[in-house]
Amino acid sequence: PNPLLTPEKRPDDSDQSIRPLSLSEFIGQRAGRAQLKLAIDSAKARKDALDHVLFVGPPGLGKTTLAQIVARELGVNFRSTSGPVIAKAGDLAAQLTNLEENDVLFIDEIHRLNPAVEEILYPAMEDYQLDLIIGEGPAARSVKIELPKFTLVGATTRAGLLTTPLRDRFGIPIRLEFYDIDELELIVARGARVLGLPMSAEGANEIAKRARGTPRIAGRLLRRVRDFAVVAESGSVSRAVADRALQLLDVDPAGLDVMDRKYLTMIATSFGGGPVGIETIAAALSEPRDAIEDIIEPYLIQKGFVQRTPRGRVLTAHAFRHIGLAEPRRDPG
Ligand code: ADP
Repeated sequence: PNPLLTPEKRPDDSDQSIRPLSLSEFIGQRAGRAQLKLAIDSAKARKDALDHVLFVGPPGLGKTTLAQIVARELGVNFRSTSGPVIAKAGDLAAQLTNLEENDVLFIDEIHRLNPAVEEILYPAMEDYQLDLIIGEGPAARSVKIELPKFTLVGATTRAGLLTTPLRDRFGIPIRLEFYDIDELELIVARGARVLGLPMSAEGANEIAKRARGTPRIAGRLLRRVRDFAVVAESGSVSRAVADRALQLLDVDPAGLDVMDRKYLTMIATSFGGGPVGIETIAAALSEPRDAIEDIIEPYLIQKGFVQRTPRGRVLTAHAFRHIGLAEPRRDPG
């Protein structure tokens, strides 16, 4: 797969400069933003900690950014960690006891917490208490430590990966959606302004169309287009300049990369367009099933290239057109 188009964070994503800093600057996610604004206004009016917030959605849609914005809007500290990083209960205890009143503790990939750590989190979230066991065997005793009130902001790519007791402790669950092209166009245009890169609306639109509904990818494509524009000494990024740059980078007009096209072509040619089961697809592509379900399929489904049916994946007419193959005749029923 084209590394430019993977939605996960990469070390070279130096994106701090174009990150929106307030809810009003944040583009898209209208429903989620309205929900957050209401909850934040209420918490501030009550001078109380905001309820725990859970952001659910594919990588690169703004979960971390929104968590930072929540802290900023509340005027509290932002502390950040992630599920796989917290190895022991004691690590989490250290984080929690360092918090100040009403602070935000962000835990990315919260579905990857180990169960012993998760146990500590329940009373912390519910009663702002730490229940720790000190010592071992007959000498072991439990101690309770009062914590300041705080807001846990969790992020996960799929709500189904969370245990029910953890999921139930979030008062404000917010699902993030893929962005539409108009929203991405605004994000790209804003990013270009921040970078001081002259760009026409059509240039921004061309990048937006290929960004797979994902601001992180839009930001990356924007940077690569800037490199191209600077080297090509084009005064401003027009649609043609953006198009040429992105073609060179092997990003197709719908934002599909080699792996996506392989997925579509394989179902079209080896399975007559489906239905075909996910395990079969995983074997045929030599990719883990999770990667296909979490990374490749969400965008293809959102774009209307693939449908998930009880009998397996089915390519749409739109997909056949996009890869330039004829749709097979299917028997009715
Ligand atoms: P996630 O935590 O969901 O993986 P991030 O919050 O790290 O995603 O966002 C990825 C990148 O996309 C960041 O550079 C961020 O600045 C940018 N971004 C995300 N959402 C928006 C938005 N609505 N407007 C502008 N930029 C955004």
